[in-house]
Amino acid sequence: MTRGTEIATKVAAFVRETVAPYERDPRCGTHGPSDALVQELRGLARAAGVLTPHILPDGSHLTHRETAQVLRAAGLSPLGPLAVNVMAPDEGNMYLLGKAASPEQKARFLDPLVSGKARSAFFMTEPAADGGAGSDPSMMLTTAVADGNHWVVNGRKAFITGAEGARVGIVMAKAEEGATMFLVDLPDTAIRIERVLDTIDSSMPGGHAVVQITDLRIPADQMLGNPGEGFKLAQIRLAPARLTHCMRWLGSCQRAHEIATDYANRRHAFGKPLIDHEGVGFMLAENLIDLKQAELMIDWCADVLDTGALGTAESSMAKVAVSEALMRIADRCVQVMGGTGVTGDTIVEQVFREVRAFRIYDGPTEVHKWSLAKKVKRDWRTTNL
Ligand SMILES: Cc1cc2nc3c(=O)[nH]c(=O)nc-3n(C[C@H](O)[C@H](O)[C@H](O)COP(=O)(O)OP(=O)(O)OC[C@H]3O[C@@H](n4cnc5c(N)ncnc54)[C@H](O)[C@@H]3O)c2cc1C
Repeated sequence: MTRGTEIATKVAAFVRETVAPYERDPRCGTHGPSDALVQELRGLARAAGVLTPHILPDGSHLTHRETAQVLRAAGLSPLGPLAVNVMAPDEGNMYLLGKAASPEQKARFLDPLVSGKARSAFFMTEPAADGGAGSDPSMMLTTAVADGNHWVVNGRKAFITGAEGARVGIVMAKAEEGATMFLVDLPDTAIRIERVLDTIDSSMPGGHAVVQITDLRIPADQMLGNPGEGFKLAQIRLAPARLTHCMRWLGSCQRAHEIATDYANRRHAFGKPLIDHEGVGFMLAENLIDLKQAELMIDWCADVLDTGALGTAESSMAKVAVSEALMRIADRCVQVMGGTGVTGDTIVEQVFREVRAFRIYDGPTEVHKWSLAKKVKRDWRTTNL
């Protein structure tokens, strides 16, 4: 058994046997599972030896290809990624800090995340009503001004996943030199949560917050990288974080498909099991095709990242193909299960809501297609002009 398969097998068993029974726990709220539930699940994961399974004791990460196996296993329940500490945004934040933080920054901000004791938030997007950064991050309005040995940050942020309850923040702001990233301890009185948004999804602890930042003073040694390097650093996180979302939600759709398949085999209508009606059987057959295509697309992109390439175009292609395929799969699972599909009796309804949101975060489908179209034009010009 390879290293990736061995870890993934352990994680899958833990998620199916130990985590899945918590799926209807009353601590799973509309703004995500409570931190008490997160800590209870992490205690179980620690005891089972599957906490933070993608980072090895020496701090190195599994390969992207191995990560794909492990995170797909974690995603077999919407609670799985947070139980084993591979959830968004922490997993992407851990990856970025592992690559870009100084040893002192790692000890202070990364170690509590790897040990599963703390959560983090990534502050980039700004409210549409303010005309701030969204699909186009260059529209960033939040400012960072140098003041002696400190930076002073002011602005508003929106959709900040997990800000409520996070202990580590990565804040992106515009300095004179350009976009710049800062590490901050949370909570901080200068970072006020205006409200937690009521969103379609409900798997991420703390939900998604609108945040007001007023005169946040950050010591210069808490800058990640150098002034003006914010977008360059964001690139490090971008492609892998997109792909890990694909991995986790593929696991959830795999499980939703299993639940719908079970329903279609047990439930009868018009004298035979639903699955024997071609309309239902074909939906499940199409799921099988989409699941395999999504898996292959993820593995292909993971192999590209494992060469050390940035994988910008490849991860855009994978994100579009996988998120759209997962939406189709989740929708078919709901349909196959009739009324039960839209109830909270199984995770199918939640998975449908979660993958709908996934078509927007980490780059909406249209933005990825737009950037790929620019590449198509660029490549054409290279060979034709
Ligand atoms: C559940 C969730 C969690 C999130 N978590 C975080 C987080 O933790 N931290 C953070 O910083 N941000 C987070 N975000 C924000 C996310 O990154 C943004 O929603 C995303 O970048 C889109 O920005 P916007 O919502 O402002 O959409 P807009 O920029 O207003 O775009 C709206 C729509 O316009 C279309 N569009 C835009 N540009 C183009 C183009 N060039 N070509 C064609 N169509 C286009 C797309 O269809 C797009 O969906 C989260 C969002 C969601 C929904």
